[in-house]
Amino acid sequence: MLPFKLVYSDDYYLPIGAHVFPAQKYRLIHKHLLETGIAEAADFVTPQPANDDDILLVHTSDYVRKLKTGTLSADEEMQMEVPYSPELVKAFWLAAGGSILASDLALREGLAVNVGGGFHHAFPDHGEGFCVIHDVAVAIKRMHKDGRLNRAMTVDLDVHNGNGTAAIFPPKTRVGHPLPSASASRRDVHEIGPAVHTSGDGELEVFTISLHQAHNYPAYKPPSSIDVHLHDATNDEEYLGWLDQALSSGFRHFSPQLICYIAGADPYKEDQLGGLALTIEGLKKRDELVLRVAKAHGVPAMITYAGGYARRVEDTVTIHCNTVVAAKEVCESP
Ligand SMILES: [Zn+2]
Repeated sequence: MLPFKLVYSDDYYLPIGAHVFPAQKYRLIHKHLLETGIAEAADFVTPQPANDDDILLVHTSDYVRKLKTGTLSADEEMQMEVPYSPELVKAFWLAAGGSILASDLALREGLAVNVGGGFHHAFPDHGEGFCVIHDVAVAIKRMHKDGRLNRAMTVDLDVHNGNGTAAIFPPKTRVGHPLPSASASRRDVHEIGPAVHTSGDGELEVFTISLHQAHNYPAYKPPSSIDVHLHDATNDEEYLGWLDQALSSGFRHFSPQLICYIAGADPYKEDQLGGLALTIEGLKKRDELVLRVAKAHGVPAMITYAGGYARRVEDTVTIHCNTVVAAKEVCESP
């Protein structure tokens, strides 16, 4: 039995037909976790779809109405880059419910994984880049509404910049405080903070760390609290060095009550939509590092998956399953 819960539903599958996004990966991950004995059936909990009030904490009523009534314009549908259907909308409501449940479990038990979600390109009033609803933002806002937290940190390690997250939670305070670095020029790093002192009582503060490939989608990357714009073909060693520095700096400036870790599989060297050069082993070390830091600071963590477009879908499945293995190892380490 795992020392944390896995939030999962077969209905995470996205009905998008033949597509570079491997919508079948969720079911393959579930199957692989069970077949390899990494997890057992009792480790999984089933989410309910988010309710509309939760979705409206992040998204505009106009956008939600268009999604529910199938009245998006042709341009709006094209921008999502996934074909619209009522079933697609249901799958995104469910993914958001999964991230709400994972946040709830993490705050109660210390750690939880949503075997889905991480749709960080969704904006309040539109979807883009395969993302329709920003499940992580919905979960954070719901936890805040319920009085469960005022300060959350998102650690976004998808190869693509989380432009939706940055638009929904723009950093509040900017200080000229570059990350220490011996390996890259200082202009590669953009850091903002300390945010923890700027919010009033009960106000929600979200501090976002984003490591992403500089020369990749989205073209415009709105600032996060800490951005690390990685050069093409960044390898394991360089990546882990930057991540270590970014996490250290983040925790110097901000004391989160919950970490939302977006564990994208697409920094992988064989990814079709990514241009970094991480190995499967390097990606597992990445997961371990984030979770070791969370554990060292005594901060609960919820994990979501995100992009993964490896040439072999088996590699994407392995990378995502390894996140569960890494979490287990960190939980059980002294
Ligand atoms: Zn991505």
